[in-house]
Amino acid sequence: MSESSRRLRIGVMGGTFDPIHHGHLVAASEVQNAFGLDEVIFVPTWAQPFKRDRRVSPAEHRYLMTVIATAPNPRFTVSRVDIDRGGTTYTIDTLHDIASEYPGAELYFITGADALAQILTWKDNEEIFDLAHMVGVTRPGHVLSDPGLPEDKVSLVEVPAMAISSTDCRRRVGSGVPVWYLVPDGVVQYIRKYGLYRMVHRPASTTS
Ligand code: ATP
Ligand code: MG
Repeated sequence: MSESSRRLRIGVMGGTFDPIHHGHLVAASEVQNAFGLDEVIFVPTWAQPFKRDRRVSPAEHRYLMTVIATAPNPRFTVSRVDIDRGGTTYTIDTLHDIASEYPGAELYFITGADALAQILTWKDNEEIFDLAHMVGVTRPGHVLSDPGLPEDKVSLVEVPAMAISSTDCRRRVGSGVPVWYLVPDGVVQYIRKYGLYRMVHRPASTTS
């Protein structure tokens, strides 16, 4: 098939991105290259079913940090579908929305080893496998395996280990430890500008 007649290949990387960090960006870039993806769309969630008990930064901050972090890469874009739909974010809805924006495209849903392990508990997981090829990437501290997942619908990709998590970035900012080089420079500056994560780990009794 000639390059011009092949179906568009679109990567979809869902996440809370609170904040986005280089682990997310390396994973997306490696999968883009491995599958020859035309574009990788980062989709910040509105409310994650598995993070209900946790305080999450306002969606507009998470969206803007994702835009800043992805702007330099011509193959990376950011979608507002989950934010604009609101309510609990389910991957099945994300994929339906992206599929209708890119009719006929092949979708590749990119997910870290921790999230891949939960996939069978996701809403409508069988239909998810029909809509998109799942790509699980390695993540330090999590075993990348696919017990019970349909073999033809899931690929596992080893990416350079980035032992970075948003949780750790928030903790660092909360205790005054730098996040330079863990997140893109513009994101460091955005976090500082809006005073994000400052209260994360400060004990309630602190009076300074
Ligand atoms: P939190 O600590 O708040 O859960 P996180 O670092 O896990 O944040 P998420 O926004 O939850 O980031 O993750 C979005 C997606 O990116 C998930 O599929 C997750 O598995 C994947 N991911 C996150 N960090 C990495 C990393 N360092 N390497 C590979 N994949 C990652
Ligand atoms: Mg996570």
